[in-house]
Amino acid sequence: MLFAHDTEVSLAATAALVNTGRGTEGLPDEAALDRFVTEWRWTGERTRDRAELDAVRRLRPRLARLWELSEDDAATLVNALLREAGALPQLVKHDGWDYHLHATSADAPLADRMAVDAGMAFTDVIRTGQLDRLRRCAADDCDNVHVDLSKNRSRRFCGTACANRINVAAYRTRQAARPTAARPTAGPPTAGRTPSG
Ligand SMILES: [Zn+2]
Ligand SMILES: [Zn+2]
Repeated sequence: MLFAHDTEVSLAATAALVNTGRGTEGLPDEAALDRFVTEWRWTGERTRDRAELDAVRRLRPRLARLWELSEDDAATLVNALLREAGALPQLVKHDGWDYHLHATSADAPLADRMAVDAGMAFTDVIRTGQLDRLRRCAADDCDNVHVDLSKNRSRRFCGTACANRINVAAYRTRQAARPTAARPTAGPPTAGRTPSG
């Protein structure tokens, strides 16, 4: 593992939050935010109103800039995120999680907690010189971002949906380019069966 588990979860959650704001709106209403919060196991106080949703949506383009900025500018942004929300790191245990850092209280606004959680995770990324692990999905038709946490820095896609789609398309292209007499020697990398056509 590159980073502590909670840091890796936070990085994935930050990418997921950024991606809700790219392409189709992923947080169209309060119910969608509820699902996101449940999926990423956010705990703490919620107001479940429009203001909470708007604050989370406003946070996304700021976090998205982390994927574009130089190291110095990313550090400045991380410091701003932490400072604006009054971050104060504390070790906590809760809900079955072992000790990890919380830098805001459980009753801070959700968007502030998300900002600080991302900010804390990115302090690890920046101080270990690994900002180059922030990537855009390699699929032409996908605008999503991800954090490549693989050992050999080999992750190219935002998720399995894009990886499968592109790998199967590449396989079909290779098959189409072969002489008709050639037999496929292996199935597509992820589909696990030989296409009939
Ligand atoms: Zn926690
Ligand atoms: Zn993608």
